[in-house]
Amino acid sequence: MDYQKILDEIYEETRPLLGQGRVADYIPALAHVDPKKYGIAIETLEGGCFHVGDAAVPFSIQSISKVFALSMVLKVLGEKLWTRVGREPSGGAFNSLVQLERENGIPRNPLINAGALVVTDCLSSITENPLHRLLEFVRKNSDNPQVNYDSLIANSERETGYRNAALVNFMKSFGNIENDVDAVLNIYFHQCALMMSCIDLAQAFLYFANGGRHPITQEQVISLSQCKRVNAVMQTCGFYDESGEFAFSVGLPGKSGVGGGIVAVIPKMLSICVWSPELNPKGNSLVGMKALELFTTKTGVSIF
Ligand code: GLU
Repeated sequence: MDYQKILDEIYEETRPLLGQGRVADYIPALAHVDPKKYGIAIETLEGGCFHVGDAAVPFSIQSISKVFALSMVLKVLGEKLWTRVGREPSGGAFNSLVQLERENGIPRNPLINAGALVVTDCLSSITENPLHRLLEFVRKNSDNPQVNYDSLIANSERETGYRNAALVNFMKSFGNIENDVDAVLNIYFHQCALMMSCIDLAQAFLYFANGGRHPITQEQVISLSQCKRVNAVMQTCGFYDESGEFAFSVGLPGKSGVGGGIVAVIPKMLSICVWSPELNPKGNSLVGMKALELFTTKTGVSIF
C-alpha cells in the first residue's frame, strides 16, 4: 500500500474544508492556535513513518491524554478499576454532570471527563509523582524526550475549569475520589495540556495496534486483554456524542481531543493521527473526521 500517496491525496482533497469548523475557545489559551494548521502522520508496525503538512508541530492533545492515563492505571489496578468507572457510552456531553447524580457518582466510562477524572485520581493513588510518571510514559512511547506540558494551557484551563471542579467535588461527595480535589484537578489539567505532534501521537499509539506491546520499545505496556478493552472503549466512547458516527463512517478505534487531534488504530497494522484545530458541532476535528473517513475508504481497511 502506498501510504504516502494516499496521505498526499487526502490532504489535497480535504484542504478546501479548512475554514468550516470552529476552534475550541472555552479554554482561552486554546483559542490562540492557528486554525489553518493541518497535519497527518501514519506509523506502521513495521517501522514505516509517513506524514504530510504540519505533522511535526506539537499541539494540545487534550482528551487524547485520557487513554494514556487509563493505560497506566489499568496496568496496575486491572479489573478493580471497573468498580469505580463503567464502560458504556454516555449518550451525553463529555463534561455532563446529570448522569452522575442518578448513578451514584460512578461515571459511565473513562473517556468522558468524569471518568477521566476518576482515572486521574487512581493515577494519583498509585504513583508518587503522577505528572512526572505520565511524562515519562508519553516520552518513552512516542520516543520523543522533548514532549512536555504547556503550563499556560494548564493554567488557562484551571482558571476556567468550573465544570471539571464541580465533577470532582460531586464524585468526592459519593466517595469516588480518594485524593485532594485540587491535586486531582491539577494533574488532569496538565495531562490535557501535554503538547505532542501527529508523529509523536501516532508513535505513542502503536501499542494499541499491537496487542499492548510497543513495537519499538518491545515493552508490554498493557496486557493483550487490556489492549482489546481500551480499543473497545475508544471505539464506543472515543468521540464524544459522535462515537457512533465515527464507527459508521471511519470504522476504527480512536480518540479525539478538543485541541483538534484524532488518533486511530488499525489493529495489527498501524496508527494514524490527524490534527486540524477547527471542530465540528460535536467537538471533533471537522477536517480530521473527513480525512480518516477518506483513509479507510481509499485503503479499504476497517475492523468490521
Ligand atoms: N481539558 C478539556 C476539558 O476537560 C478536555 C476536553 C476534551 O478534549 O474533550 O474540558
